Amino acid sequence: MQITPLLNDGYAGEPAKRVLNYVQDHRQAGDPVVGIYCGYAPIELIQAMGIVPAVLCAFSKVPIAAAETVLPANLCPLIKSSYGFIIEGTCPFYAMSQAVIAETTCDGKKKMFELIADIKPTHVMDLPQVPDEAEARSNWKQMIVKLQGFLETHFDRQADEEKIEASLQAANRKNALMRRIFDYAARVPSVLHWKEMYDLSFLAIAATGQEMVPLLEPLPDILEQRVREGFHVGPPKAPRVLVTGCPVGGDATKIFNTIEVAGGVVVAPDACTGMKAFMGEFAENSGDPIGAMAERYLKIPCACMTPNERRLTDLSAMIGHFKPDAVIDFVLQACHAYNVESFKIGRHVEEVHGLPFLKIETDYSDADTEQLRTRIEALFESI
Ligand code: SF4
Ligand code: SF4
Repeated sequence: MQITPLLNDGYAGEPAKRVLNYVQDHRQAGDPVVGIYCGYAPIELIQAMGIVPAVLCAFSKVPIAAAETVLPANLCPLIKSSYGFIIEGTCPFYAMSQAVIAETTCDGKKKMFELIADIKPTHVMDLPQVPDEAEARSNWKQMIVKLQGFLETHFDRQADEEKIEASLQAANRKNALMRRIFDYAARVPSVLHWKEMYDLSFLAIAATGQEMVPLLEPLPDILEQRVREGFHVGPPKAPRVLVTGCPVGGDATKIFNTIEVAGGVVVAPDACTGMKAFMGEFAENSGDPIGAMAERYLKIPCACMTPNERRLTDLSAMIGHFKPDAVIDFVLQACHAYNVESFKIGRHVEEVHGLPFLKIETDYSDADTEQLRTRIEALFESI
């Protein structure tokens, strides 16, 4: 069945091309661009200052060989790919960025940021990693205030509390609409393909709430039409899969493709490149918009946090909502945080939810695709 594409906004094309056009348009209009890598980058502050946050390239195997001339081979492919793109000069988003905003998440990334700081101004935010400590909120708020100072100094752009509050409120509307769209993947059977979720997420991170809301508002009607016409993604009884773990993009999307080849449907891509960025809400009209921002960001359940019980509670909520038949934990090789945490995730999924669980540890190469398919098919047989 021919389905109506979700976005007809003049930014047609592959996700990266669409976002590239968006960033280029802003750059030509004179707006500064900063590169970001992580879900903790406070994009609402950056956008409130009239600056575009561009997610930097990190998901291709191609630049990894170049990166390995400097970085150890047994490092996470996401870090090697990020660095390789920079030294090879092949990330167009990095080329357009006038600075990089970074956070102290995992050790490999922290050390990589030291290397790229020699190439372009790089502002590193000290992320508290025990998010429930009493000081965490005020410390992270201070880091966001410092970022604001860095951006003011480098780009001569300002945002008062009113602008930041408006940015938070627009982000809440954008995120609520994104969740409403994701709800169509929660339907049984799903009417929303993972590529569409991925495509939308990519753009929705770069674009402001004010820009995204009019783009997103018509989409539920298009999806309703799919429901009326009886369209669904994959066979109606296909195993539904929630994919959690490390970020998935570019060459790492082999995991989603392999799930489909094995006969399944991805109904919940729960990672920073998927749904995670749009979960949760900023407190509105709190009188302290930067504090509200700090509070919401510290709730992101990244494995770099300890303890990370929120990942379990959020996962339970997602399982309840998206009704998966199985959970796959996607772990990039040498990512110790997600790798070690996987044990708890598997135990939680199996014991609390009674669902089959599979941990997949992989990199960006295609070498294990057949082996992954066999393991995923075996998982589906256990349903
Ligand atoms: S998984 Fe953690 S470190 Fe990686 S992008 Fe997400 S929040 Fe950042
Ligand atoms: S996947 Fe893991 S090791 Fe790689 S950058 Fe993210 S947190 Fe760090």
